Amino acid sequence: MAVGIIGCAGRMGRHNLEVVLASPGLRLAGGVERAGHPALGQDLGILAGREPAGSVATDDLAGLIQASDVLIEFSAPEPTLEHLRQVAKAGKALVIGTTGFSAEQVQVLEELARSCPVVWAANMSLGVNLLLGLAQRVAASLDVEWDIEILEMHHRHKVDAPSGTALALGRAVAAGRLVALDEVAVRSRDGITGARPEGSIGFATLRGGDVIGDHVVMFAGEGERIELAHRASDRKLFARGAVRAARWLAGRPAGLYGMSDVLGL
Ligand code: NAD
Repeated sequence: MAVGIIGCAGRMGRHNLEVVLASPGLRLAGGVERAGHPALGQDLGILAGREPAGSVATDDLAGLIQASDVLIEFSAPEPTLEHLRQVAKAGKALVIGTTGFSAEQVQVLEELARSCPVVWAANMSLGVNLLLGLAQRVAASLDVEWDIEILEMHHRHKVDAPSGTALALGRAVAAGRLVALDEVAVRSRDGITGARPEGSIGFATLRGGDVIGDHVVMFAGEGERIELAHRASDRKLFARGAVRAARWLAGRPAGLYGMSDVLGL
């Protein structure tokens, strides 16, 4: 099975290259970067921190799509949608790890995924996908007097907030309470905010250093507090999940799948 990596010189792209190169039964079809990126022309094995692989990073996306059975993309929302359009036209499959899509962009993604197989997950780790299920169950078990707050911390380079994973956790606890997240979410607080509205789901975002991804879902009641936490300590974990998703996706019918499908949760 031939796997192509889009955004191959990024933090996640390099790990995706590394995991594909180390995976038995998978062949690296190539890696692409945006036009003008300084990594263009560099050997993909070297970008992955391994021995030379004999092929280099290019900006030839059309060529990579032709050469791949499945592609993996962790980049930014706009290019991801444009690339998905091209992947769908070519009848190939795409694993998307990109976060930070607007509601309108999510609609476009869902529309495009009707014509090709897509896995899209804000977090590819087994632990976070288990946490999503646990958080939903706890929220369903507690009454609305328990306040739900979601705290996340990421490295200083992250550009979207709250993280895609924090929002996915928000949707999970909202589903547990049978409400729509958009109607109850408080995504930030500043100044004289007034008392906390009952039933709201709050978010707090921290940014700094090289933190790969910490998430805590807090259920704060009278006299007691439950905290469900996940801390990622190795970014390669997400790449392993993405490659697992790529293997799972090959040959599936068109449609939008999540990591719970891939992991059979
Ligand atoms: P990064 O900035 O290090 O890497 C993104 C790469 O995409 C860059 O190298 C950039 O040049 C490249 N790129 C941008 N436009 C492109 C284009 N048109 N064609 C080809 N390449 C292009 O960022 P990162 O830390 O690797 O994160 C990327 C995305 O993945 C973010 O949205 C982040 O939130 C998300 N992420 C998801 C998970 C998950 O498990 N789903 C885990 C970590 C990060």
